[in-house]
Amino acid sequence: MSASDHLRAQLFIAGQWRDGGAGTVNDLINPATDEVLGSTPRASVQDLDDAANAADKAFRGWSRTSAVERSAILNKTAALLRERTESIARELTREQGKPLAEAELEVALSAETFEWFAAEALRSYGRTMPARFSGQRQMVINQPLGPVLALTPWNFPILLPARKIAAALAAGCTVISKPAEETPSPTVAIARALHDAGLPAGALNVVLGVPSEISRHLIAAKAIRKISFTGSTTVGRHLAGLAAQYAKPSTMELGGHAPVVIFADADLDKTVAACVAGKTRNAGQVCTSPTRFIVHESIRDEFVARFGQAMSELKVGEGLDPGVQMGPLANSRRLVAVGELVDDAAAQGAEIVTGGNRIGTTGNFFQPTLIADAPITARAMNEEPFGPVALVNSFTDVEDALAQAHRLDVGLAGYVFTQSADTAMAMGEELQAGGIGINSFSVSSIEAPFGGLKDSGYGYEGGYEGLDGYQHHKYINHVA
Ligand code: NAD
Repeated sequence: MSASDHLRAQLFIAGQWRDGGAGTVNDLINPATDEVLGSTPRASVQDLDDAANAADKAFRGWSRTSAVERSAILNKTAALLRERTESIARELTREQGKPLAEAELEVALSAETFEWFAAEALRSYGRTMPARFSGQRQMVINQPLGPVLALTPWNFPILLPARKIAAALAAGCTVISKPAEETPSPTVAIARALHDAGLPAGALNVVLGVPSEISRHLIAAKAIRKISFTGSTTVGRHLAGLAAQYAKPSTMELGGHAPVVIFADADLDKTVAACVAGKTRNAGQVCTSPTRFIVHESIRDEFVARFGQAMSELKVGEGLDPGVQMGPLANSRRLVAVGELVDDAAAQGAEIVTGGNRIGTTGNFFQPTLIADAPITARAMNEEPFGPVALVNSFTDVEDALAQAHRLDVGLAGYVFTQSADTAMAMGEELQAGGIGINSFSVSSIEAPFGGLKDSGYGYEGGYEGLDGYQHHKYINHVA
């Protein structure tokens, strides 16, 4: 596949594809090769108004479409995504860099997300309650909030839009989706699949351009009734502020800096293998990525030696090459940012056990990096590295481990490694985070709620809670 075969990103408004009225905004660059794949359209104010009008108009029909019909379209979409996995995953890898197997898994999880919400649409039960007096009927029905603005980043360029779009459509909302300008193709693929599955025009619109222009204009637009954002805490605070100005509800999936508490009784073979895979998945560009490894002092030296060795043996390369275990960073901003965090930790006296440098001069490759004993003043101990950087420090007892884990005001994910069921449950209950992995780095499954505490945001995606974020609960009191 050459650059010219690359899916051309366009805006999708009222069921029609169009170029951006304001030209283009950036080149699409393959982060493994620096090859220019295409460019991203820039929506004009007119495009944004057209998208808002289309979502508003379509809402009148889609919100009244039966749940059975909505469900069938979402299931058909899932089937089309599965059928198209190969081409979607290849484009995803070319735009974002992750190994092809990870991209294929992401497409599969996105299809599963559409299936989950297709089923949840059918289970959106209201309730009746015992009447206060004879002849009265009191009930609660769930209704869609209205057109939704869904803003998503570049690290999971199909799964994150899928979670918002599938849930909103299942609830009966319509959507304007703005994917990251650096990775538009997977959202374009979702729009094509929904269109081919029979989604009415305007129920999903896709816009691209300058993020701050789009969010400012559309959050203020009268038609938009809900904002859902995934990205950094800084941007999330800004967008939540804009939403609050218009008293619009928002869901904020923001950053993390996840602690991993490793007890002396952990199975070290399995733990080290899990830590390498967990840390280097998507080159560490994951909001739930394990970052601060807090290890019992009695096993600290052995853990550091084995973790460092395994990290140094990882095969790093272009995501389309077979056998590659970690791809490049998704953009050159991350390359600079990750390098600065490592240099700062070293300057503050931390030990760089392995890695720490860029690989080569083409693409955004960075070595899997293990840093030991960084002081709490090191930037990496406080800022989300969003790269393949693991930090190891030791603890003495449970109180010390929890104090270290809770030093930062984030609460997206927390992890525990132990063979004791008592320790596992006690830590599972004690750690302050939206999701806890015990002997596992998986805290996001579509059947469970996913969301953060503190600076990691609020609201849920997944589980039955995922549908709830797009609904209001209307009380009807009928007196005969
Ligand atoms: P960034 O924070 O500016 O952008 C992150 C995402 O937010 C991008 O997709 C961008 O298009 C979008 N965005 C930015 N400003 C916006 C605005 N005003 N309105 C609407 N959308 C806006 O910078 P970045 O360099 O892409 O990423 C930097 C940091 O963001 C990372 O280090 C990481 O900590 C965080 N991040 C988090 C996630 C996540 O899944 N929680 C994903 C990507 C990035």
